[in-house]
Amino acid sequence: MSDKIYDLLIVGAGCSGASGAMYASRLNLDTIMVAELPGGLITTTHLVENWPGIKSISGPDLAMSIVDHATSFGVPMKNEKVKEIVKAVDNVEDGKKSGYVVKTSSSEYKAKTVLIATGTEHKHLNVPGEKELANKGVSYCALCDGAFYKDKVVCTVGGGDSAAKEALLLTEYAKKVFILVRGKKLKAEPVNLDRVEKNEKIEIMYETEIAEILGDEKVEKLKLKNGDDMEMDGVFIAIGHNALSKLAKDLQVGLNQWNEIKINRRSETSVPGIYSAGDVTDNEFKQAITGSAEAVTAAYFASDYIAKNEIVFN
Ligand SMILES: Cc1cc2nc3c(=O)[nH]c(=O)nc-3n(C[C@H](O)[C@H](O)[C@H](O)COP(=O)(O)OP(=O)(O)OC[C@H]3O[C@@H](n4cnc5c(N)ncnc54)[C@H](O)[C@@H]3O)c2cc1C
Repeated sequence: MSDKIYDLLIVGAGCSGASGAMYASRLNLDTIMVAELPGGLITTTHLVENWPGIKSISGPDLAMSIVDHATSFGVPMKNEKVKEIVKAVDNVEDGKKSGYVVKTSSSEYKAKTVLIATGTEHKHLNVPGEKELANKGVSYCALCDGAFYKDKVVCTVGGGDSAAKEALLLTEYAKKVFILVRGKKLKAEPVNLDRVEKNEKIEIMYETEIAEILGDEKVEKLKLKNGDDMEMDGVFIAIGHNALSKLAKDLQVGLNQWNEIKINRRSETSVPGIYSAGDVTDNEFKQAITGSAEAVTAAYFASDYIAKNEIVFN
């Protein structure tokens, strides 16, 4: 392990982590980002129209412009998966605080404070055929796989804005797009709902659930819970995400009932020196701008914490 001690180590380089890194460098914090996949979740969407100052931009362009902004201010970016975060000192003297050691499979980093901005992973439907036909017609990303479905019949599964946006993108390729909604309502952003309703290729099917995805080499049809069969070439699942909060849980950071990291208005967690931001937190409104704001807030209060505390490593 190198002897270098960072002021702030950010786990994750999605919109949240990268925004926090950019601000931290402006606050003169010696900062590093460690991320498995720079850019994060928003790189899977084709159109972002609610980032202030930019009327329309693709998800990948937005995310990578924020990552570039941070790295151009001198924040190093390490493409590594963090396995564990531990306290450097178990029992610190009164009035002092322990720093942290962040472990990846190839390195260990010391940091006075850590911002966990690890986001989420997509949920599975957990129906027969989903796992077996993954990448053979079952997908979780229309931007990544939509182009394979030119003139085909596809569906999105889900009742939120993601299912609506994924369906809209799929209409650029497929000849017919169903949105299968379990409940009685599609809870999409009004502008997206309006686009869906006006798009002749899209048909919303309410109170519809998949029982099984069928096909030999690739998806061929769906068996619905009401017993009906539906011919289908592609299934795009957009039913939400689970917080990637294991690193925090192992550190005894407080989580809510959905395993999301609890933060306060300073983006502090229950453990001193550990901050969190973005989709992994208990903020109900999970958007690029809200996660970025939480990360920026974390950078500010991490700077304050470093100024006010003696942080030790042995
Ligand atoms: C289809 C779709 C459309 C959307 N459209 C919009 C939109 O139009 N506008 C909008 O504002 N929001 C939109 N969102 C939501 C937006 O994508 C998220 O709110 C935002 O991307 C969350 O950013 P984040 O940085 O918190 O997490 P993420 O983007 O998920 O980033 C997490 C980062 O942590 C890294 N990571 C995770 N675990 C580890 C580990 N152990 N070690 C190292 N690195 C790790 C990941 O590799 C990644 O870099 C959309 C979401 C979806 C699914």
